[in-house]
Amino acid sequence: MPRTITEPAREIDVLHETDVLVVGSGPGGLAAALAAARAGVEVTLVERYGCFGGNITAVGVEGFAWYRHEQTVEAGGIGWEFEQRARAMGAAVPESQSLSYELDSEGFKVVADRLVEEAGIHAMLHRQFVAPLMDGDTVIGILTESKAGREAILARRVVDATGDADVATRAGAPVSKTPVEAMMAASVMFHLAGVDKAAFLRGVADDPQTYRDWAAGEFAADETAAKDADLYSPYLGKPFAKAIEDGLLPADLNTIGGTWGAMHDTGELTYMNLVHLSGCDGTDPDSLTRWEIEGRRQAMLAIEALRRYTPGCETARLRNFGMTIGVRDTRKIDAVYNLTENDVREQGRFDDSIGIYPEFIDGYGVLVLPTTGRYLQIPYRSTLPKAVRHLIVAGRATGGDRIAHAATRNMSCCAVTGQGAGVAAALSVRSGRQFADVDVHAVQQELIRQGVRIS
Ligand SMILES: Cc1cc2nc3c(=O)[nH]c(=O)nc-3n(C[C@H](O)[C@H](O)[C@H](O)COP(=O)(O)OP(=O)(O)OC[C@H]3O[C@@H](n4cnc5c(N)ncnc54)[C@H](O)[C@@H]3O)c2cc1C
Repeated sequence: MPRTITEPAREIDVLHETDVLVVGSGPGGLAAALAAARAGVEVTLVERYGCFGGNITAVGVEGFAWYRHEQTVEAGGIGWEFEQRARAMGAAVPESQSLSYELDSEGFKVVADRLVEEAGIHAMLHRQFVAPLMDGDTVIGILTESKAGREAILARRVVDATGDADVATRAGAPVSKTPVEAMMAASVMFHLAGVDKAAFLRGVADDPQTYRDWAAGEFAADETAAKDADLYSPYLGKPFAKAIEDGLLPADLNTIGGTWGAMHDTGELTYMNLVHLSGCDGTDPDSLTRWEIEGRRQAMLAIEALRRYTPGCETARLRNFGMTIGVRDTRKIDAVYNLTENDVREQGRFDDSIGIYPEFIDGYGVLVLPTTGRYLQIPYRSTLPKAVRHLIVAGRATGGDRIAHAATRNMSCCAVTGQGAGVAAALSVRSGRQFADVDVHAVQQELIRQGVRIS
């Protein structure tokens, strides 16, 4: 038996009260907060780090819509706005494999600040959610920990956008966690400086890579849609194979390889998604500690291999790591409706749609790009946890099976569930109805008013 101690009960200051409290500010939480505020209620956004944006800003994931092709059909809404606003503020550049814009993970911090300010959202950075406040099975607020100690925030409705379903789990809603050996790998993301842009792009043009190369390498895909296999991919695999051949990398580090994001005029080569760490459990701090350190070690080896074998990278150096290791896969709620593989592969249609999402599947060895006009609808019920009231979930922890997750985890889909959850939270407050009884037609009308395509 592990040794235990009893934490004494204590009085906690109620720091703040709000209509809708959003916990976590990634694409899911940021979209939820903006949508709820625009639907006319008071909104508070709590975030453990010092910036909004979640994986975009904290990890450095810049490929917001790298799947977009001529025929791709999308929801629009706040996801689209993220990209357009970033462009307008000089925080996005054209993305190399798609008709989209690569976000600048640093610049997006300022974009998110501006969006939050303009919407009149009460911002609470540097506070970590630690426990829900419950009245029976109803969430009535949260406890946070920060440099100021433990504080309480009361809320009429709570949106769990932590990515890991932290609030839902601790409130007692049923959740499931992918077994650690089957989890998608985590990644330590990094960005380079000192790259010769012209030489690098010449190298890419001289030896263009495809999704078939990607699938054969890092991605280890069991299934890449035949229609997509020969399309161009910004894949980097050969430098690392060569480094293993020459003994620069140990043979067991054949997991290094992946994609680059943007090659900037200033010599920065960003969103280097090259380090893949299987066995990292993003809900276990000991596991996170081990893999953060190991990930940085592997990133430095990867940089050495790039300097040696990639044209234009001879004088490259580390510009920065993401603020934290990037985690793709942990807990998901057992929702009122769990999206299925069949739904994402066969254009699922739902009366309670809160937005559409193109047929884009990326994960667990499957890659399907939305190069046709096929799309599915995302059901409201996939955001609703069971057994707990006044709580809704946005982002990658919404309900669904593995292959459904490989679609819904993508940032622009997190923005769809976020916007839907935010509007539902606002209408739930305004109507005094439970989430389960919210007028879904009214939610859909407000989403349409906010620019979301739902059918
Ligand atoms: C390395 C990597 C590469 C990826 N590449 C792509 C890609 O190219 N394109 C794509 O679309 N998707 C990609 N993804 C997936 C995508 O980034 C995530 O699935 C998506 O960001 C999830 O959004 P979210 O809002 O649910 O959660 P997150 O983006 O994880 O945001 C959650 C937020 O909640 C905060 N938070 C968590 N717990 C607490 C707490 N207890 N208290 C307070 N705050 C808390 C976090 O700090 C964070 O800001 C990638 C993921 C990784 C890790």
